[in-house]
Amino acid sequence: MSQPSYTRGCQDRPLLTQTIGQAFDATVTRWPEHEALVVRHQGLRYSWRALAEQVEVHARALIALGVASGDRVGIWAPNCAQWCILQIATAKVGAILVNINPAYRVGELEYVLRQSGCSWLVCADAFKSSDYHAMVQELVPELGAQPLASERLPDLRGVISLSSTPPSGFLPWDALAERAGQVDAQTLQARQQGLQFDQAVNIQYTSGTTGAPKGATLSHYNILNNGFMVGESLGLSDRDRMVIPVPLYHCFGMVMANLGCITHGSTMIYPNDAFDPELTLQAVAEERASILYGVPTMFIAMLDHPSRSILDLSTLRSGIMAGATCPIEVMRRVIEQMHMGEVQIAYGMTETSPVSLQTGPGDELELRVTTVGRTQPQLETKLVDAHGVIVPRGEIGELCTRGYSVMLGYWNNPEATHQAIDPARWMRTGDLAVMDEQGYVRIVGRNKDMIIRGGENIYPRELEEFFYTHPAVADAQVIGIPCSRYGEEIVAWIKLHPGHSATVEDLQAWCKAHIAHFKVPRHFRFVDEYPMTVTGKVQKFRMREISIAELAPH
Ligand code: AMP
Repeated sequence: MSQPSYTRGCQDRPLLTQTIGQAFDATVTRWPEHEALVVRHQGLRYSWRALAEQVEVHARALIALGVASGDRVGIWAPNCAQWCILQIATAKVGAILVNINPAYRVGELEYVLRQSGCSWLVCADAFKSSDYHAMVQELVPELGAQPLASERLPDLRGVISLSSTPPSGFLPWDALAERAGQVDAQTLQARQQGLQFDQAVNIQYTSGTTGAPKGATLSHYNILNNGFMVGESLGLSDRDRMVIPVPLYHCFGMVMANLGCITHGSTMIYPNDAFDPELTLQAVAEERASILYGVPTMFIAMLDHPSRSILDLSTLRSGIMAGATCPIEVMRRVIEQMHMGEVQIAYGMTETSPVSLQTGPGDELELRVTTVGRTQPQLETKLVDAHGVIVPRGEIGELCTRGYSVMLGYWNNPEATHQAIDPARWMRTGDLAVMDEQGYVRIVGRNKDMIIRGGENIYPRELEEFFYTHPAVADAQVIGIPCSRYGEEIVAWIKLHPGHSATVEDLQAWCKAHIAHFKVPRHFRFVDEYPMTVTGKVQKFRMREISIAELAPH
C-alpha cells in the first residue's frame, strides 16, 4: 500500500529563538563594514554599521512618538531604503508593521488602517498614478490637529511622509529622526530586551474568499526563521549579493529577501521602486550580483528584454522563483541565459510566513519545473481530502502546512482564523497538490478561485462586491483566464440593471479611480444570465471555458 501524503522536513537545522532586532544586531557586529543595503534608484549605499545607525535613530524616534510594544505602524510606499529601515526599527521597538500595498486607493487604505488600528502611518509622496498625500488628506482631513482626532480612523495619531517637503500636517521623515534625541540608547535597549521572539511583528493583508482583506499576523519567530531557512536552502553567505525586484510589502520582499539577507550577512540590492526589467538586469550586472529573486512574470520580462543578452549576468548563481507555477521553457532559459544554474522554486503563502516547500540546490531540472520541491526544514506537509483525511501518495488533496511558520492568526478575526487553522494547528492553504513517493509536491490547482495576475493575488469575491457598488451593475462575476504575459487576466461578467447602460470604458475608468490598478479587469462581458447549476450555483468553470474560447489567450 502507498504511503500517506505526509512529510516532515529535516530537523537538523535549529530554529532561531531571537527577535528580528537581535538577529540584525548580531549581523552588524559580525560584518560591520560589509555592504548591507544598496538602493540604486535613491543613490544610497549602507554598510551594516551605517544601516544600524539609521535603524537606531528611527527606533528611538518611534519611541519618542509614543509608539509602544504591540502598536501598529503602517507603511505605504514602494521599495525604498526607508522601507527597510522602518521594518527593522519597528521590530526593535516591538511595534507591528502593517504592510500596505502601494497600489491601494483610499477605500482600501481606510479599510486596512482601521482594521489593524494603526496609530501611525508612514507614506511615500507619489508613485505611478498614486498621490499618497492627496489620498491621506482625503481620508484624514483633520491631519495636523494636535492631538489628531480622525473621524474615520480613530486610532490614528499621525502620518509621516517620506518626502522632505510634504504638505502641512504630515511629519517629514527627516524631522522624525530629529526626535531621536528625546530617547537615549539605553531606553531602546531596555525595550528590545523586553520583547518576546514569538510576539507579533507584522501584519500582511491578504484578501480572503469572504471579500474583505484579512490581516495575517506574523511573529518574529515566524518570519525570521522563514527568511533564515530560505537563505539556508540557497546557501547564502556574507559574500552573496542579492538583487531584489520583488515588492517589499509582500513576504517575498520583506521576508525571503530582507530577512534572508539579514540572517546571513548578504547584501540587499533594490534596483528600483517597482519592478523594471531593464533596471533589474543592470543592477545584476553593475553590482556583480550572485542571487536574483522574482515571480515567473518578472523572469519572462527580463528574458525577453534586449539588455539581457548585452549585459554581463555571469556573476549570478542562484535565486528563487515563486508565487505561481513556472513554465518549463522559462526555467530552462533562466538557467541557460541568465546563468542561474542553481535557481530554486519556492511555494508558500502569506499565512505561512510564506515558504513551506522548496526545491533543493541539487534537484534536477525536471523536478524544478514539475514540482515545488519538498517540505522545508522543521515544517510538516499533508494533503487531505474533503473530509480532512490524508490521501495516499499520488492522489490529489488540499495542501496543509504545520510548524513554526504558521501565522498567529488573522488580526482581530477569530472566525476566519478558526476556518483557516484547525485545532491541531494545520494551516489549510486552499491549494490542491499531489505528493510523490520521494515527498516532492506538485501543485495542480486551487480550490479557492483566487486569480494570480503577475504575482498579485486577486480575489474575485472582493471585486464582485466592489462592482455591486456601481449604480448600473445588477450582478457581477469575476474569473481569471490564462495569459502568457501575466499568468492570468481578469474577466468580469456583468449584468446591468434594466434601463441602465455602461460601456467597458466606463467601467474600466470607474475601477481605475477606486481600486488598485492590478485588480482592474482587462475584459468585460455584458450578459443577461450566468451559466448555472441546477442547484442555482454559478458555474465559474463554464464561464472560464467560454471566455477562453472567445478571447483566445494572447
Ligand atoms: P500569497 O499569499 O500572496 O503568498 O499567495 C499564495 C498563493 O500563491 C498560494 O496559495 C498558491 O496558490 C500560489 N503560489 C505560491 N507559490 C507558488 C508556486 N511556486 N507554484 C504555484 N503556485 C504558487
